[in-house]
Amino acid sequence: MHKLAQLDHKYVWHPFTQMRDWLNREPIMITSGKGSVLRDTQGRKYLDANASIWTNLHGHAHPKINAAIQKQLKKISHSSALGLANEPASLLAEKLVKAASSPHSARRIPHSAFKSSAIRNPQLAKVFFSDDGSTAMEVALKLAYVHARRTGRSKTPKFLSLQGAYHGDTVGAVALGHIDLFHKTFSSLLFKTDQVMAPYCYRCPFNRAKPERADAREYRKCNHECIDLVEKQFAAQKRKRNPYSAFVFEPLMQGAAGMIPQPRDWLRRVAEIARGHGAQLIADEVMTGFGRTGVAEAKTAAPGASLFACHHEGVQPDFLALAKGLTGGYLPMAATLTTQTVFDAFLGDYSEFKTFFHGHSFTGNQLGAAAALASLGLLQNPASLKARQNLQQSLSAELQTLWSLPQVGDIRQVGLVVGIELVRNWQTRQPFDLREQASIRVCEAMARRGVLTRPIGNVIPLLPPYCTTPKQLKQIISVLHASIHEQLAG
Ligand SMILES: *Cc1c(COP(=O)(O)O)cnc(C)c1O
Repeated sequence: MHKLAQLDHKYVWHPFTQMRDWLNREPIMITSGKGSVLRDTQGRKYLDANASIWTNLHGHAHPKINAAIQKQLKKISHSSALGLANEPASLLAEKLVKAASSPHSARRIPHSAFKSSAIRNPQLAKVFFSDDGSTAMEVALKLAYVHARRTGRSKTPKFLSLQGAYHGDTVGAVALGHIDLFHKTFSSLLFKTDQVMAPYCYRCPFNRAKPERADAREYRKCNHECIDLVEKQFAAQKRKRNPYSAFVFEPLMQGAAGMIPQPRDWLRRVAEIARGHGAQLIADEVMTGFGRTGVAEAKTAAPGASLFACHHEGVQPDFLALAKGLTGGYLPMAATLTTQTVFDAFLGDYSEFKTFFHGHSFTGNQLGAAAALASLGLLQNPASLKARQNLQQSLSAELQTLWSLPQVGDIRQVGLVVGIELVRNWQTRQPFDLREQASIRVCEAMARRGVLTRPIGNVIPLLPPYCTTPKQLKQIISVLHASIHEQLAG
């Protein structure tokens, strides 16, 4: 075993990993990366098919991002945001607010059952920096909590989030989440939040359609019962005389739940419901942000205009949590954007102690901010938009080849995110028992063929870096095809 691998085995504890299994095999030890390719100590090359756990946007060692970090490095790496301001963080805050400014209400909603006041779109005006997705969500949660108390909406603010939600691993973020496998162990540490049904067309009890060889959203037969349930949940909570203070969601696609996409209009309609009940919206775009969910179709919002999933459905939240791709995936940094109204609830005489008593040592870090500025510059370049459009199209074409495998039950693509759900038999949708480690075996077989991704349950996620070439994309899909066949056929 390589000397570094021995050190890892001896000293490192890996996240979300059964360490007994880990210690049984030699780890892949990454030494460098370029574009979509990672290299290990043995000189082997791998395609980074999940963008290093959904963080990387433009590829590794991108000359523009590297140069921006190096330039900043010569000036200063970090000074505290507690008591001091700095150049890249100020520039970045402005750019983020502009990038996240209200989407054009491209689509008129003709016969809405809701008063038009219910769909007002607030402006995001302020940026609170932190370190990662979990802290971005903690900040949103605490701000919404205090705001609800100070405005008199509730003395004990209640939050509603989605079935299968994942918002990070710090305790507040875990309380908002609803994945039993991750969260149950910590139950008595957590405050209680409610959950409501989230769309999962492929396994929805309301979907009366027989399985077809297509994304379940396309052939589902239902009456949008999941949307009615959201309305019912809000109404029920109102009767308890403590209406929800905020509704928390991952827009367009729930990531850690298993790359589960929402059918068209779901987001817009539940956002209207939440607004109709006076709740604030907390959008967790930690995974979906920065163009990951692709270029909006001409039919929906302003095509191509926005980097954020919410805007694809004309929804503007009161809180927008960003992390993973913020720095292009180069450095840990996060941001929580919010409105002037929320900001104002924390203003007062010093002696009133309305200050937001929250912060992290590395808040507003200069290196991270410099990387983020460079990444935003790349994203806003028309060439990047065109490249993402092309990648999205070739991805969707390549994915069709997987339908020939009977162990592929559902293929769900939202822009540049894909979830492929493996099943024992597509005609019955019968799942594999998690103990069989079907998707883990498939991913290990993929790694042997030079493609890296990490499964979630029975789902194989693909999130290619935006610089992935058509040839690399073909390789990813053909390796996945071969690995599923090898591991699961017969
Ligand atoms: C990854 C993720 C988080 C947590 O982010 P970390 O940086 O891992 O703390 C939160 N929400 C969503 C939707 C995520 O995908």
